[in-house]
Parts: sequence; structure tokens; C-alpha cells
Amino acid sequence: MNIILLGPPGAGKGTQARHLVSVRNMVQLSTGDMLRDAKSSGSKMGRKVSGVMARGDLVTDDIVIELIGEKLSQIEGNGLIFDGFPRTLAQADALGNLLATHGEGLDNVIELRVDDDALVNRITARSSCAKCGEVYNDITKPPPEDGKCVNCGSEELVRRADDNEDSLRQRLMEYYKKTSPIIGYYYAKGLLNQVEGLDPIDAVKDCISKVLDK
Ligand code: AMP
Repeated sequence: MNIILLGPPGAGKGTQARHLVSVRNMVQLSTGDMLRDAKSSGSKMGRKVSGVMARGDLVTDDIVIELIGEKLSQIEGNGLIFDGFPRTLAQADALGNLLATHGEGLDNVIELRVDDDALVNRITARSSCAKCGEVYNDITKPPPEDGKCVNCGSEELVRRADDNEDSLRQRLMEYYKKTSPIIGYYYAKGLLNQVEGLDPIDAVKDCISKVLDK
């Protein structure tokens, strides 16, 4: 089963994707993570996208489509979770074509619905484990006092450079302008399911499970 997790920044896509990886043995493909890796490797492409990402703008379609295309040719079989991709109609079309060339298709698109004000609070209080991606929130789930990740024990907790209010406002604008049209696109294809993203994390996990087991 190949699925897309769709939703604005801070909706919980990464948290839910990691959960599906652990309980269903699926593979998470996050273009945000791939781009951050490229940035920290200091590659030419990483340097090119660094400023764009810091501002909260989208990087060009060709860059992310190429990244996903490369991954798809390295991964065997299905069970893929697309997290943060596609973000434009052109990317959505490209994903359909890429999957088809591998004899695969898309089974489900899950939109995590959330309210913008809640997102600002979530994002500006967010940190995560650099090793396993476990997400913390200064108020609702503070980083452990001993500095060790509850999931993997790593002591490297990081805050994303673009998790500030200005960048978030721009990321939200990009989401509504360029990404939200793909909600209608997948609705029309009969693939869209909507889940309340502001419910407690376990409740969201249950809802997603029900959708996938339908
Ligand atoms: P994310 O980790 O998904 O929030 O992505 C962080 C940043 O990476 C975004 O604000 C964009 O600048 C860039 N990015 C990630 N995925 C995409 C995509 N599919 N298309 C364009 N830009 C992307």
C-alpha cells in the first residue's frame, strides 16, 4: 500500500509517518528530510535550496521530483509513505507517472486537518531528535531533563532553522496557494480521506489505522 500524508507544516505528518513505519513496516519518504540532508552535506543542490527553505518557500518541482525518482529506483516493493511530497499539482502528476513506471500506484491520500493558530504554537515550540526524528514540544511534551531522547537515547536534540513564526507564515501561504489544490485533485480521484489532525496523537493514529484498514 502506497500512501500520501498531506497537511500544512506542523500538522503531524512526520510523527504519524514514523508511527506507520514502526507498526506497519512501511518506508517514509520525506522530501523535507532529503533536502535537509543535502543541505548538511554541503552539496551544490543543498547550497542552492538552503535560502529558499529558510524563507519558507517551496523549492522547484524538478529538484524534488528528481529526489523522489532516485529513491523510487532504489526501493523495492510497496508500502511507501510520501511525507511532504507532492506539494504542487505538477509534483502530483509526476508522482503518478513515477509510480506507474515502477508498476505501482497510490492507494490512499490522508489529509491531516488543522487550525492555523494551533500550528504557530506547535511549530515555534517544536524540537526533535536528530537521530530518530522523535518530536518534542516545549509545553505539551518537553524534551527529557537528562537530554536523552525517550525513543533512541541520542543526546542531539535540534530545532529546525525554519521553525520560526515568519518562516511558518510563508510556509502556510505556500501550502494554501500551491499545495491545497491537490486536495481536490485526489478527491476527484477517489483517494482522499480526511482526519482531524489536532486530536491527541494516539487518536490520530487510530483514525489513520481505520482508514488504511477499510
Ligand atoms: P518539510 O520538512 O516537509 O516541512 O519541508 C521543509 C522545506 O523543504 C519546505 O518548506 C520547502 O522549502 C522544502 N520542501 C520539502 N518538500 C518539498 C516539496 N515537495 N516541494 C517543494 N519544496 C519542498
